[in-house]
Amino acid sequence: LPLEEFERHATQLAHWIATYLGSPERYAVLAPVAPGAVAASLPAAMPPEAESLDAILADLDRVVMPGVTHWNHPGFFAYFANTASVPGILGELVSAALNQVGILWRTSPVLAEMEQVTTGWLRDAMGLPREWFGMLTDTASTSTLQALAAARERDATLDIRERGMAGRSDLPALRVYCSDQAHSSVDKAVITLGLGRANCVRIASDGAQRMRVDALRAQVEADVAAGMRPMAVVATLGTTSSTAVDPIAEIAALCERHGLWLHADAAYGGVLAMLPERRAMFAGLERADSLVVNPHKWLFTPMDCSVLWTRHPDVLRRAFSLTPEYLRTREQDVALSYSDYSFQLGRRFRALKLWFVLRAFGLAGIQARLRFHCALAERAAEWIAAEPGWELLAPVTMSVVCFRHRPTGVVDEAALERHNAAILERVNASGRVFLSHTKLDGRYTLRIAIGNLRTEERHVAEAWRLLREAAQA
Ligand code: PLP
Repeated sequence: LPLEEFERHATQLAHWIATYLGSPERYAVLAPVAPGAVAASLPAAMPPEAESLDAILADLDRVVMPGVTHWNHPGFFAYFANTASVPGILGELVSAALNQVGILWRTSPVLAEMEQVTTGWLRDAMGLPREWFGMLTDTASTSTLQALAAARERDATLDIRERGMAGRSDLPALRVYCSDQAHSSVDKAVITLGLGRANCVRIASDGAQRMRVDALRAQVEADVAAGMRPMAVVATLGTTSSTAVDPIAEIAALCERHGLWLHADAAYGGVLAMLPERRAMFAGLERADSLVVNPHKWLFTPMDCSVLWTRHPDVLRRAFSLTPEYLRTREQDVALSYSDYSFQLGRRFRALKLWFVLRAFGLAGIQARLRFHCALAERAAEWIAAEPGWELLAPVTMSVVCFRHRPTGVVDEAALERHNAAILERVNASGRVFLSHTKLDGRYTLRIAIGNLRTEERHVAEAWRLLREAAQA
């Protein structure tokens, strides 16, 4: 393809993207398609001959857009928001063009060093210990898996790296603890590491969905007495359902006493540590052994981008470093190759988009947006608390509000679940907003999760109006 063609199409696409980002509200937030509809709209086989880029671009509106759920929509209040900010999009574009393959330092020195620097910037902005070593992965699921792989490696006498775990009568059950609110990625990491799902022990949480440290202590002590080997605790700072924050300082003290690896999952909420006035809720985090925070959640970085920090890069390296002859280099002892710290060999140049985002927003710009989102959530919580027939179901610790409608006299949980599920269905069918649900203490719970760059108060107000209308209907 002649490069003049590239320029023509890139300009055309830049215009198309700017139009899209300028008015995502033209679209229904949730893709209005039935399962299978997108596949059915595509040809059964690949084109036998080359097609023109004009033809492909023309199909963006016809084929692609109907199947898009608009995470960039200001009415996206489901799960946790993830906005593709303009700096992040530009970073992705350059990254695709440069096509760096980070196998070794020499295959992309800028990838390795910018990854170190940007994760260091973020670490410092969050007030974390300066010696923490940072790396980027695709998702929090991968970051947690790698953290727990390091935790498993820490006791070198177990020799799991060389001997594995199967058929070993000398190996006690290795136990990982997290609260009953922790993300399912912890179970998946335990399963993937071959520890056995039963060894991912869910600890009861208190009335505000925080891990109960007394229950954790009792479980660890009982497991030790039973001959098991407590290996790690995963504390969540910003749980998926209600953004509860586990008491990390107390958990850290227990981990230190028993020699447990403490991994902190702050995939969504960790960025709040960038606000000095919010830092108290993270007190004790500096004692963790590893931490995950996802810039692709509340840091305006397009999917995907997760940061894993650890204070024990040596252990992570012991878990994963393996250099075949063809990858040996003369600088390998002095230059950082991230493949020594992860199970993947080649890696994307994710640091570039993070660098764009951190520079283009600056610390003050990020702080202002986080504060704005928290204030919007607090306002929504005030509206809900003040309205008869509605109730809040969890404290608002970050930018998520958990609530439900409870018509007078209705106490049956099954009836309340049907009623609130119907409200959710109706509100989402409007196409104006998209909310999701969870269960807290067995109670069906609606959530408004605020975190999209383009969300303004009027969007939250519209969600609230739609909810009240749906409750009446
Ligand atoms: N941890 C928490 C607290 C989450 O809320 C989520 C997803 O929402 C995850 C981990 C998993 O994130 P990812 O999709 O990046 O693996």
